[in-house]
Amino acid sequence: MAETLTPARGALALRGISRTFHVGGREVPALADVSLSVATGEFVAIVGPSGCGKSTLLRLIAGLEVPDHGSIALDGVPVTGPGLTRGIVFQDHRLLPWLTVEKNIALALRRGPGPDAAKAARVAELIALVGLSGFEQALPHQLSGGMSQRAAIARALAPRPPVLLLDEPLGALDSLTRTRLQDELLRIWETERTTVLLITHDVEEALVLASRVIVMDPRPGRIAEEVAVDLPRPRRREAMAFVTLRQRIAARLHAYA
Ligand code: ADP
Ligand code: MG
Repeated sequence: MAETLTPARGALALRGISRTFHVGGREVPALADVSLSVATGEFVAIVGPSGCGKSTLLRLIAGLEVPDHGSIALDGVPVTGPGLTRGIVFQDHRLLPWLTVEKNIALALRRGPGPDAAKAARVAELIALVGLSGFEQALPHQLSGGMSQRAAIARALAPRPPVLLLDEPLGALDSLTRTRLQDELLRIWETERTTVLLITHDVEEALVLASRVIVMDPRPGRIAEEVAVDLPRPRRREAMAFVTLRQRIAARLHAYA
């Protein structure tokens, strides 16, 4: 019998993306001629100084924003608006404060296909995956910052999106929690096999997690450099090659500070 091949999911193609905002009669070129290809299952990090268009880029891929020029396709299909094929997590968790962890995650499945039992099983699976077992009935205000972000990640992953978009999701956490969640993110990525795009201001975080780091320049926001992270996993922060790469990228970013 012929083997059934699952079609590759989660490949992104951005071609010649530009987006200008008009603020009080002034033009703010947030992105100019950005082209980027991301392969199925790849983990790509985006770093760059504040205001270089990182969030705008993610919002365009999420379909929350429309480009002035250029095209965005996911698995060959043009992105025309938000949808279940892209999950997104922001720096603040944006959970609904009156719903429990379980209900917040379940809400993301409400509009999707499948029987209720399968959806409940998916919620339980995700709660275990992000390490929130025992907190199913907790309300968002009863959670620590790290736990809230775990719940937000579970919610984003609930409909099994081929692409996970992360806009500085660990940026507001203390360094110990952040390091732990970086390990968790790797485990989640390996389990769920989604394509991940992570915006971070932390070069070390980018190098621990990503197979490729996109460095952006500001005014107008554009891709300055793509750095392949050819370091063995798990990444060792103290390894010479890691430190050298971190210093090179950080020096570039500090030129804008
Ligand atoms: P980053 O995430 O890299 O800090 P952003 O994508 O948030 O950058 O913003 C890029 C530029 O576009 C900034 O100059 C910002 O002020 C501007 N900008 C972003 N969103 C809007 C908006 N909705 N209206 C007007 N200007 C915006
Ligand atoms: Mg931003």
